[in-house]
Amino acid sequence: MMSLLKKLQERVTATGIYVFLICTAGVVVLLYTNHWSFLYYSTTEWVTIYSLLGAVLILEHFTFQLPPASNKQSMDSSVYLACIFVHGIEMAILVLLLSAIIAAFRHKKLSWWKHTVNFSIYAISIFLSSTVFELTGGTQGALNAEHFNSYLLALICYFAVNTITLGIYFYIAYKGSFNELKQAFLAESLLVYLCTLILSLVLTTLIYYNGILGLLLVLGLSMLLSHAFKQMFTMYREIEEKANMDRRTGLYNHSYFENTLETELSTSKSQNTPLSLALIDIDDFKKYNDHFGHLKGDQLLGFLGEFLKKETAGTPITVSRYGGEEFTLLMPEYTAEQAYEMVNAIRKKLNDSRYEGVEIFPHGCLSFSAGIAQNRIDIYDKSQLVDLADKALYYAKKQGKNIVYMHGSFNEVEREVDLGQDIRDIEQQLNLFLHKDINTFKHSKRVFRYAADMSEVLQLGPEDKRRFALGALIHDIGKLEIPWNILNKKEKLSCEEWQMVKAHVTWGKRIIEANERFIDLVPFVELHHERYDGGGYPFGFKGEQIPRLCRMLTIIDSFDAMTTERPYQPTKTFEEAIEELRACSGSQFDPELTAIFIHYIQHKQPAFMDSMETGL
Ligand code: GH3
Ligand code: MG
Ligand code: MG
Repeated sequence: MMSLLKKLQERVTATGIYVFLICTAGVVVLLYTNHWSFLYYSTTEWVTIYSLLGAVLILEHFTFQLPPASNKQSMDSSVYLACIFVHGIEMAILVLLLSAIIAAFRHKKLSWWKHTVNFSIYAISIFLSSTVFELTGGTQGALNAEHFNSYLLALICYFAVNTITLGIYFYIAYKGSFNELKQAFLAESLLVYLCTLILSLVLTTLIYYNGILGLLLVLGLSMLLSHAFKQMFTMYREIEEKANMDRRTGLYNHSYFENTLETELSTSKSQNTPLSLALIDIDDFKKYNDHFGHLKGDQLLGFLGEFLKKETAGTPITVSRYGGEEFTLLMPEYTAEQAYEMVNAIRKKLNDSRYEGVEIFPHGCLSFSAGIAQNRIDIYDKSQLVDLADKALYYAKKQGKNIVYMHGSFNEVEREVDLGQDIRDIEQQLNLFLHKDINTFKHSKRVFRYAADMSEVLQLGPEDKRRFALGALIHDIGKLEIPWNILNKKEKLSCEEWQMVKAHVTWGKRIIEANERFIDLVPFVELHHERYDGGGYPFGFKGEQIPRLCRMLTIIDSFDAMTTERPYQPTKTFEEAIEELRACSGSQFDPELTAIFIHYIQHKQPAFMDSMETGL
């Protein structure tokens, strides 16, 4: 017995109880007000009833839509009110019952109890307002100026009961906040309620003196008004859209973005949900403009707008054109890591998409760089979040572009070293690669990041740390001497060309030796192609003959070469590359260091690892 009660308790929800109460009250009103007089109605009375019913149906269809909300408001209530004033409650409830039966047939998908609730709420409103009308001295028939108070009180009662019963229902069933309810049921509907009120009084007079003709006149007017309102609403929406849209790309514009950012920031704060912002900047767009002209550039912007919209469809993300060739993705519910996954996937897809003329880009494909920042407690102004994302974007550009960066994901050592004059000097030399061979530029930057991380893992002292990181950054500098066509050749190299490529370690050594400050980096440049088993070049050194950090660099260098992502081509995944390292451990690579590196790769945060799997 107890468990039965408990089960019953679980099944009976607050909504259920409320629905039951409302429906019971509705049925009671129906039974109480019905005196079976319809059995004796004359044909004229039936004609009146059908006309009123027709009026209700027409008004239900010709709704009033007022900006800014899109709620459609129907004025059918005015017919019930006029009916109360002219013919009394019994006929009003009869018209309501007939319209409810028709609605049940028209909307069969809606469950029967929802139809009953709807009927009941109207029935209760009609009953109570009619009671108020009679109690305050109102009499049926023509509009009587002496009883103006009765009309007014009846109307207020009707809307109060209607709003409150419906409001409670939505409050319980949809757990809306009180403020939302207030907005939906009061602010937006007040004007329509006022119209309904006046319309019902006009109807009363016209029905009483002119019968069906009066009703038709009001209906005609209502239909025209509804049409005019609809047009006004459409126009409002069009203007609103134009004000928020960027025409070139079909995305939202800067000012819409700013407004949405502000709203989303406060939502994120009040509900304690994550919010991320991605700032996207097309790589080398100026080059495209210069080569093909601004019109083609504009078309490319349009293409990107469509692309971003398509890739984010079905998500809560807002895509806007921030300005020029920069875009923002405002990502509610996304942590920085999740945002990273999403934006990076979009970036890869863009790399692989075909578009006319992309071969002029340094990466040979369409690409963008992006910076991501997540909302934090210490952010109190929208410009701060944009600044963080912008910093990350700047960092991504500095790494050679076609990369996504999360703010705060840069390695500490990297930043420390980054500050040094040494790194700036070396970067200047590396910048030569930006135009000659972007691949080597980006490869050097990534190898540098691995080295910065590995110097932590290997717990190097400050001097070794510096040497290792700088050595990693500069190790391929000799490639500057290799002719462009060999560096970028896609086919197999001839024997001679291969010799030339191999010579880069010696050329690199000469370049480095020219600067006294970097003399201690020579081994990294000269020996990073030696093999543990002695089969490498230029000397064929073996095992311990190769300095330890140079052996480490060889592993990093090879790993990055294996996992480098290229458009239109498959890449080795990190797992596959780890397999390859294992297979060559002891032959090409120092086994002990290989094990350390693999351990590090496998335990690094996935998002960070993904960020290394980027660019060419
Ligand atoms: P980076 O990779 O460093 O971003 O290189 P970039 O050439 O893309 O960078 P930058 O921001 O210096 O140049 C942006 C260029 O975008 C400048 C301008 O010619 C072009 N641009 C900005 N707005 C429009 C536009 O509406 N239409 C066209 N066709 N070009 C635009
Ligand atoms: Mg720009
Ligand atoms: Mg750009």
